[in-house]
Amino acid sequence: MRVGAHVSSAGGPHNVFERAAAIGAEAIQLFISAPQQWRAPSLGAETVAAFRAAHARAPLPVFFHAVYLVNLGTPDGALLERSADSLTRYVRHAGELGVEGTIFHVGSHKGAGFEAVREQVCAAVLAVLEAAANESMLLIENNAGQGNGIGAAFGEIGEIIRGCGGHPRLGVCLDTCHAFAMGYDIATRAGCEAAMAEFDREIGLERLRAVHANDSKMALGGVRDRHENIGDGHIGLDGFRAILAHPAFREQPLLLEVPGIEGGGPDAENVERLKRLRAEVGAPAPDAGGGG
Ligand SMILES: [Zn+2]
Ligand SMILES: [Zn+2]
Repeated sequence: MRVGAHVSSAGGPHNVFERAAAIGAEAIQLFISAPQQWRAPSLGAETVAAFRAAHARAPLPVFFHAVYLVNLGTPDGALLERSADSLTRYVRHAGELGVEGTIFHVGSHKGAGFEAVREQVCAAVLAVLEAAANESMLLIENNAGQGNGIGAAFGEIGEIIRGCGGHPRLGVCLDTCHAFAMGYDIATRAGCEAAMAEFDREIGLERLRAVHANDSKMALGGVRDRHENIGDGHIGLDGFRAILAHPAFREQPLLLEVPGIEGGGPDAENVERLKRLRAEVGAPAPDAGGGG
């Protein structure tokens, strides 16, 4: 189990390794373009070389988070094309940089219902994987269920993956805050057991490739996406003990997307809290040499 964090890539993506080290992060998530804009990332040969050199010195698992505007469930053809194009660029860059995967939100069906957009979503996902043919994964993130979000229920994510023929480069990033807000009571041992049994039935635990470790400002089933620092929300320290003790998370990279104690985003204190909990429940820490 690795305790990692979303880290700023300001000044160039190679800077994430130094920033991760500064807060003790053992895995990294970053954006390679402004997440609220369509402006395409441009990574020249020098940027790629600088990133690869820094990564060789600090061999941690690294993930991209796609831009927030992506919506593969939209009825707007132009927006769908833009979404697929943006994802394709990210996945191509993931291949160039040797990044493990691109985590993305499928989007919203805008009230049409999941069934109405399922085929469109699957076709778009397959088109992205084909247009960006490399080793990197595309990871579907569950959402909190607000705004007709697709993939709040594990069953919908499973249907998308099966609709893509179980493509080997498709995986899942489970966000603890979103799952809890959606009504999966992962904050108790029994609830976490039930939720992960459902995940296994609907998706398959082997598809779980990353975890967004966030506490929730919203109560169980609050259906809104409001992240809180670890232990300070409705999941709480006991809740994270239950989650980290579950075998499904033993070998996962945990990526913090929390507001931070001082409001500056994931910080050393939140990393430290998760590391303490990891030790308490006896989950394995990575070897000093990397790997794992
Ligand atoms: Zn997330
Ligand atoms: Zn969120």
